[in-house]
Amino acid sequence: MTQIKEQSLTAVKNTVRRQKEFFRNGHTKSKDFRVSMLKKLAEQIRKNEEKICLALKQDLNKSETEAYVTEIGFLLEEIGFTLKHIDKWMKPEKVKTAKTHFGSKGFKVAEPYGVSLIIAPWNYPFQLQLAPLIGAIAAGNTAVLKPSELTPHTSTLLADMIGDTFSSEYIAVLEGGVETTTYLLDQEFDYIFFTGSVPVGKVVMEAAAKRLIPITLELGGKSPCIVDETANIELAAKRIAFGKFINAGQTCIAPDYLYVHKKVKQEFLTELKKVIVDFYGDKPLENEEFTRIVNDRHFQRLKKYLSDGSILFGGESDEASLKIEPTLLEPESMTSGVMTDEIFGPIFPVVEYENIRTVIDFVTDRPKPLALYLFTTSEEMEKKVTESISFGGGCINDTLMHIATPYLPFGGVGESGMGTYHGESSFTAFSHYKSVLKQTNRFDFHFRYPNAKNGLKLI
Ligand code: NAD
Repeated sequence: MTQIKEQSLTAVKNTVRRQKEFFRNGHTKSKDFRVSMLKKLAEQIRKNEEKICLALKQDLNKSETEAYVTEIGFLLEEIGFTLKHIDKWMKPEKVKTAKTHFGSKGFKVAEPYGVSLIIAPWNYPFQLQLAPLIGAIAAGNTAVLKPSELTPHTSTLLADMIGDTFSSEYIAVLEGGVETTTYLLDQEFDYIFFTGSVPVGKVVMEAAAKRLIPITLELGGKSPCIVDETANIELAAKRIAFGKFINAGQTCIAPDYLYVHKKVKQEFLTELKKVIVDFYGDKPLENEEFTRIVNDRHFQRLKKYLSDGSILFGGESDEASLKIEPTLLEPESMTSGVMTDEIFGPIFPVVEYENIRTVIDFVTDRPKPLALYLFTTSEEMEKKVTESISFGGGCINDTLMHIATPYLPFGGVGESGMGTYHGESSFTAFSHYKSVLKQTNRFDFHFRYPNAKNGLKLI
């Protein structure tokens, strides 16, 4: 804790204390307040579109199209959806009561947790910080945001934008790395929403456990992609290349490795190589629009995987620009780093199979994946795979798209995370559902009382 100035520690403590007061005074609870704050957030995002694109270009060389589709546009859609449905989500839900409770009414009442902490990673640094915030605001919480220190331009922009839009007793950005986060995790938050790696997820859960703070963990891992012998090869190649190489593979739900049926392996690989050239050109390292690796540490980590097997396509990299070509690789062993670690980069190991049982056993022997993608036209195969393997979410005949619809809850299972968000699930994530039973005063069942003489008494 020595490196953070005493002043910053005091700032953290004061921010949480002031947010507690603000929340306790009931400012965040009315529907009008929530709606106006969501509208303010949308307005601020629209106003800063250029700055957001620039920060993402500086931090990751993200193209404007990718920045819009995966970060800005995504958030505006999510705010629009929330504004459309917030009325319904906020209303207490009347539920049936048991026969033994004749005369009474039951309600589920959504209440905000209070002061929430939202910790974000660097790969979609703008979107992954603000998407949970939409849920926090909609559900009536205050929030402290902690962006990733690995994307400093986006972190500074978030601090400026949020500072210009909201008072810090309502929503505040506290920038910093491990030390700041460690200190934040020692504060009395009412709820923690963490997006990041599995090891840090464990640190967050341990810290939350000390105070019994409820949490959502959006983590990572190795997401398998399977192409069976009945798949539409052309479409599969396009959709897999899109999901794997967008953001240079630095996507939590990117297909991590491929299992392709022996009968269609060559045909599929020929098509996949063609699609990669179509998308990124002959010289992807020179393509101005191709995202770079976030920093030198991750670049070096990824480069090591290039020697974990034989390169089928790509394999070149450029240290000066921190770029690695979209690469297909046949792993030398199923226990090499590229097949055991989350890759989180543009390197795609390709493994062939003959019997789907091998694939199911391989996946189920390992931590439950965040996503799974199956390309098939066989309903039987679809049923077999989705019923035999536990995974957070995924697609049949596509990649990534399950994350982009607010109607599907998004999240992991087991080591890939706990809890879900997006759309109504974001509101639910940041709410406690209070059960309230409203009893009638019109009559009373006396038999429940000690020493009761008659059953029912009308009042
Ligand atoms: P990370 O876990 O290293 O960092 C995430 C956040 O935690 C950052 O804000 C960082 O400052 C903080 N942090 C880092 N080390 C810490 C520590 N020891 N104690 C307390 N806080 C600490 O993750 P990352 O490298 O930023 O992101 C990549 C990982 O996130 C990948 O595993 C990816 O799969 C996962 N991810 C998951 C999702 C999802 O929605 N499930 C989305 C994006 C990324």
